[in-house]
Amino acid sequence: MFEKIKSIDPELHDALAGELNRQKNTIELIASENFVSEEVLEVMGSILTNKYSEGYPGKRYYAGNKFIDISENLAIKRAKKLFNAEHANVQAHSGSQANLAAYMALLDPGDKILGMSLSHGGHLTHGHKINFSGKLFNFVHYGVDKKTEQLDYEEIKKIALKEKPKMIVCGASAYPRTIDFRKFKEIADEVGSYLVADVAHIAGLIVTGLHPSPFPYTDVVTTTTHKTLRGPRGAVILCKKEHAEKIDKAVFPGMQGGPMEHTIAAKAAAFKEALDSKFKEYQKQVIENTKALSYSLKSKGFRLVSGGTDNHLILLDLSKKGISGKQAEIALENANITVNKNMIPFDKRSPLDPSGIRIGTPAVTTRGFKEDEMEVIADAIDKSIKNINDKEEIESIKKDMIKLCEGFPLYQRC
Ligand code: PLP
Repeated sequence: MFEKIKSIDPELHDALAGELNRQKNTIELIASENFVSEEVLEVMGSILTNKYSEGYPGKRYYAGNKFIDISENLAIKRAKKLFNAEHANVQAHSGSQANLAAYMALLDPGDKILGMSLSHGGHLTHGHKINFSGKLFNFVHYGVDKKTEQLDYEEIKKIALKEKPKMIVCGASAYPRTIDFRKFKEIADEVGSYLVADVAHIAGLIVTGLHPSPFPYTDVVTTTTHKTLRGPRGAVILCKKEHAEKIDKAVFPGMQGGPMEHTIAAKAAAFKEALDSKFKEYQKQVIENTKALSYSLKSKGFRLVSGGTDNHLILLDLSKKGISGKQAEIALENANITVNKNMIPFDKRSPLDPSGIRIGTPAVTTRGFKEDEMEVIADAIDKSIKNINDKEEIESIKKDMIKLCEGFPLYQRC
């Protein structure tokens, strides 16, 4: 692969080849990552990248969009079907941009929004002060209950009644439990606010019916397309018909010029895959694998935030293991296991060196791993953390992980 670029740009070729080799030989446990199919890759790398198509299907500001309209309409039709939504905008370049569009469509800068705090599992775009969301809007936050480490809807209601936000944002980046959208809707109705669900992490589970759907409870749903949904890097915005025009205008001309039609077509391809019954089997296995991994880790003395998991991810609290999340991330990377350091709720450490790591199974499940492999991985995580300063042991785990990967080859045609 990459033969053409090799002949003119060996430096760039080596970076691409190196990354392909890393993906093939690493246990990928970053909860927000996945491996797209070779078909999605083909569409993503296609000549559609050449086209300017400002506007929407049938209403473009440039000529020559006959075929682009076909592919964008396919993406829209399939996104609506997947999420059972009245309207879909498939142009948002990223999850962050999709959230900005939702805020800008329904609110004015300075308006109050209630979202989940980043340190309890929310996302930067849910009002962190260093992010556009916290700079442009007046965010207030809810978190999880100290004892259960889960959402406490009575407490969220209390905060909402006191703060009277114009919008409530639910959804998270590091929350291992089911989100009750109906309860959020009851709270939003009581305070008269809009309800937005950012389902970036759990979209794949939602479209296969393995996590309750945010519709009909929410006004707007945003999601990235590249996590459990297993599409190209990007996002979609789903909403009720009454918000369709505002959402579309917030995206274009509100915050972008030309859409990335190669990515939109790749979203269409991924949505077709997600509509197939095989995708539900895959998502079921994601949940089974997370459960298997959580049981194995628990049996080795690891503490799981909230005591377990209902979805594709686990948040491990390493404080009693005597190492930080950053140290664990480095040791595991040396053993060819990729995870990310993560704050745990009520963390006493800093975000750059927090107490936890986040582990997810979507990517390893795509490559075919099942419960047996989860046990091997739990063992490798445990050994790496116990032998953090033993280079020989870490090297030996790395060899085992490469062997494990070789049994489940990835991108064979690449
Ligand atoms: N929302 C949630 C819940 C996320 O977890 C993420 C990314 O991890 C985003 C939004 C932002 O997506 P992006 O990285 O595409 O901007």
